[in-house]
Amino acid sequence: MSRSAHPAGPRHADVLPEGHYSAPAADLNVLDPKVWAQTVERDADGVVTVGGMTVTQLAEEYGTPAYVLDEADFRARARAWRTAFGNDADVFYAGKAFLSRAVVRWLAEEGLNLDVCSGGELATALSAGMPADRIAFHGNNKSPEEIERAVRADVGRIVLDSFQEIVRVAHIAQSLGKRQRVQIRITVGVEAHTHEFIATAHEDQKFGIPLAGGQAAEAVRRALQLDGLEVIGIHSHIGSQIFDMSGFEVAAHRVVGLLKDIRDEHGVELPEIDLGGGLGIAYTSDDDPREPHEIAKALTEIVTRECEGARLRTPRISVEPGRAIVGPTAFTLYEVGTVKPLDGLRTYVSVDGGMSDNIRTALYDAEYSVALVSRTSDAQPMLVRVVGKHCESGDIVVKDAFLPGDLAPGDLIAVPATGAYCRSMASNYNHVLRPPVVAVRDGEARVIVRRETEEDLLRLDVG
Ligand SMILES: *Cc1c(COP(=O)(O)O)cnc(C)c1O
Repeated sequence: MSRSAHPAGPRHADVLPEGHYSAPAADLNVLDPKVWAQTVERDADGVVTVGGMTVTQLAEEYGTPAYVLDEADFRARARAWRTAFGNDADVFYAGKAFLSRAVVRWLAEEGLNLDVCSGGELATALSAGMPADRIAFHGNNKSPEEIERAVRADVGRIVLDSFQEIVRVAHIAQSLGKRQRVQIRITVGVEAHTHEFIATAHEDQKFGIPLAGGQAAEAVRRALQLDGLEVIGIHSHIGSQIFDMSGFEVAAHRVVGLLKDIRDEHGVELPEIDLGGGLGIAYTSDDDPREPHEIAKALTEIVTRECEGARLRTPRISVEPGRAIVGPTAFTLYEVGTVKPLDGLRTYVSVDGGMSDNIRTALYDAEYSVALVSRTSDAQPMLVRVVGKHCESGDIVVKDAFLPGDLAPGDLIAVPATGAYCRSMASNYNHVLRPPVVAVRDGEARVIVRRETEEDLLRLDVG
């Protein structure tokens, strides 16, 4: 992995391990269950299937590129989070990872709540019937219109991100004759990513109100005085693609410290604490994510211990996994267009999508795996870089991987673990049409987000 950037953004580059991918896997035909959706396997002919459908059927019917999502896996992961945290905690799926109306319905059915952070995400959630009291509204610059819409809809909570927003939301709620439940997002000076975290006094970022310098305490003080607000808790989100729980430990310690100060100063014990999302998934076989039940146990223990130390009632915990639920459930199916060996370097494999359907490699130097899925092969492994069709040399989907040496145009390859932050960050760069999301389950496929058409593009271009 490059040290110049990080899945969570370039500023985290210094916490990255050195690159690997020095050797190919023993057998390139084997699909590591860690990185592939639950129902993915090869059939007797060596063709990859998911939810009982072969990738060749899917490609024929829905075209490529396409995001193929394993609905049973999505539901199972959502349920696992829900079950792990039980009835004394709430799981909010972070909609920004991937949101569609089908996904909203699955979440509602599986008993999860939903985070949204824009009017568009709120509209999607409401239009698919997510009960408003199970919606949390996030964002560092919600417009007055968005706030009004959320308050009118009676969303369960708005997460306040600045001093100005405290006043803004209070004012809007009051003018509508309502009292809005809110959490206050603070930054505790912990940046946690992958296997390391950094604990500092300050955090240099746009989100939240700093704990440092008494700012968070001042924010709570002001919010408690406003009639339009019911302050229900403190929110902290410390990073992304996290495997190591020690960052949460420091964050919880600092959040509970604030709860204690609030109790001492105002005589109120805030009933909720939200520890955010950011739990990691396996993009390659080198990643070892924790199971939801291990995460739930660790987080609950941390908060309980900290609260006992501070003689506080343990607040109701909530968490906000996005990637950890949807990430592993989908892969992107591509058709190989050209195979270009560069002597002594590597072979460039061009596919029919690229940075428009997966910006994470270009943006964060994210790592992905790739496999030949329309057949098996016993050919020698070759070092490849999977690139897209865009007019941009940074248009890389998988930077370093091995594919069979007999790979040819017309083969189907798939990049696993693209369920999160791929379709949701997709663009129309080069006027490329955004791929569909096809959900498969029990031998049936259903388009949940259709492929964009040239008509869609031209509809916005009003001449
Ligand atoms: C992005 C985000 C999440 C989800 O992060 P994942 O890495 O997808 O789990 C949760 N909460 C907040 C506030 C976020 O900004």
